[in-house]
Amino acid sequence: MGIVAKGAKCDVDGCSNDGARSLNSSKVENAGMRLRSSAKKAVLCKDHYKEWKKETKDDRELERARFDRF
Ligand SMILES: [Zn+2]
Repeated sequence: MGIVAKGAKCDVDGCSNDGARSLNSSKVENAGMRLRSSAKKAVLCKDHYKEWKKETKDDRELERARFDRF
């Protein structure tokens, strides 16, 4: 995970933006997003990464809540 190598494009169906992040494809698909590649890792552009984060907001908030206690 982390920053994607330069030149990678977003794997979301119908999107041709530059990739910003790579995630496990299953996580992306679980958030209801369609990918055009069937690789294990999916590349997302900034916009789709934001969208994905929104879709997985519940998980994120749990993570943050745990951090806030320290
Ligand atoms: Zn995209």
